[in-house]
Amino acid sequence: MANVNERSFIMIKPDGVHRGLVGKIIKRFEERGYKLVALKQMTASKAHLEEHYVDLKDKPFFPSLINYMVSGPVVAMVWQGLDIVKQGRAMLGATNPLASAPGSIRGDYSIQTGRNICHGSDAVESANREIAHWFKPEEINDYASPFISAWVYE
Ligand code: UDP
Ligand code: MG
Repeated sequence: MANVNERSFIMIKPDGVHRGLVGKIIKRFEERGYKLVALKQMTASKAHLEEHYVDLKDKPFFPSLINYMVSGPVVAMVWQGLDIVKQGRAMLGATNPLASAPGSIRGDYSIQTGRNICHGSDAVESANREIAHWFKPEEINDYASPFISAWVYE
């Protein structure tokens, strides 16, 4: 069912922050017509990141993934709009940047999986879990945007 209020958790990882790509990444979602409803920069704790990536805890790359993610601040965001979860993943590109299409964020700005600069939820259910993990309900801004309603959607 079409849901223009679908939400996804999108995060700029420490390498994206260090490389000054925050604005460029946000710009792509804004220009597409998606609505930013939450944003904060934070240096996440190891425990917080281990919980975020709990599904991957048995993977061999898990320790290096956590070391990478605690190495600096991240920018955590919630974006809203029609099909945002799937479209957000497409805009990010494949997990391995060498397989990411040119024009995707990872395909344009990164080379290796362990430095792939951004995260996006992979399903509506995981998006809901991740949003609740990173944001308090009062940190999410549920506002009307008449311009988007009138000019992005039919
Ligand atoms: N990752 C890694 N090595 C791998 C696979 C994944 O370092 O072989 C890292 C990479 O940063 C990736 C993250 O772990 O973005 C989460 O992996 P997942 O399979 O969920 O990929 P994503 O959903 O981020 O595309
Ligand atoms: Mg994933």
